[in-house]
Amino acid sequence: MSSHFQSSNLNSLPTPDVQILTSNGLRIPAHTGILASVSPVMENIIDRPHKHHSSEIIIPIPGVPCEAVSAFIQFLYSSRCSEEELEKYGIHLLALSHVYLIPQLKHKCSKAVGQRLAIENVVDVLQLARLCDSPDLYLKCMKMMANSFKAVEKTEGWKFMQENDPFLELEILQFIEEAESRKKRTKRHREEQRLYMELSEAMDCLEHICTEGCTTVGPCDLEPREKRDPCNKFSICEGLQLLIKHFAECKNRVNGKCSRCKRMWQLLRLHSSICDRTDSCRVPLCRQFKLKMQLEKKGGDTLWRLLVKKVASARAMSSLSLPKRKREEQRETIHDHGIRNFRL
Ligand SMILES: [Zn+2]
Ligand SMILES: [Zn+2]
Ligand SMILES: [Zn+2]
Repeated sequence: MSSHFQSSNLNSLPTPDVQILTSNGLRIPAHTGILASVSPVMENIIDRPHKHHSSEIIIPIPGVPCEAVSAFIQFLYSSRCSEEELEKYGIHLLALSHVYLIPQLKHKCSKAVGQRLAIENVVDVLQLARLCDSPDLYLKCMKMMANSFKAVEKTEGWKFMQENDPFLELEILQFIEEAESRKKRTKRHREEQRLYMELSEAMDCLEHICTEGCTTVGPCDLEPREKRDPCNKFSICEGLQLLIKHFAECKNRVNGKCSRCKRMWQLLRLHSSICDRTDSCRVPLCRQFKLKMQLEKKGGDTLWRLLVKKVASARAMSSLSLPKRKREEQRETIHDHGIRNFRL
């Protein structure tokens, strides 16, 4: 008969005193002691007063294939369930484990059903996960629907659910909408982080150009870098050097009509905002901006302060993960460096 008797030691078990009746009339003999010890629900059924005291107790488990019932009873005896059974009867076993309060089996089934989730059955499985109070499986179904909604919408399961359970439809649509906006938020956050990282790198390059000099721009008292080792962030340095050159020569710089000059101005201001060197800094206008900020005190522009904070933290992050550009160990102390002190 059923396999649990083959696997358990028959001799050590007393005579079966309960029969499990399946939907097709199959009777599986079992032991009240074992059933009651693993399932509090079974225990309740067994303890209930029965009409015929002398006769065996019969527990009907209708509504699921008899093979699923057999696998279920086998699990109650052995705490084991084959992959094949999970594959064939996973959803039935999930329902049974929920009804008879068998958490280990429920966990196994949720996992197994989740692994075999497909567009065709996702709506049905979602409904089952809701009924059986299985949050992991529920979330997995919702995510699959959010990711492949176009395909899910075409399934029979979806159409049936739409006609019969408008509240569930609403619940799913709400989840999808929230998932979309979550995705957008993450994307925006990533883009912002990239911007702060770029600005932080630009700050490193600006200091390097103004202190050590790069290929075409550098302090007057230093040789051009062309004759030395190439710099490792040249893609950024190149653009920055062009911008500095433009800034030094542009006729429209002062009246604020030139967008490139405005950009350079912002970069210099940003440098000054995050620069912690006092007199030794060789970046143009660093001190002037600092003085100006001191005069403005803490007032000023909240957005600007936020930007400074973000770039400073991006910079701290990158200094943790990347080796710092080699800098000359000794920095000369030179007072103010205007743009004219540069070799352009
Ligand atoms: Zn460089
Ligand atoms: Zn300009
Ligand atoms: Zn500075």
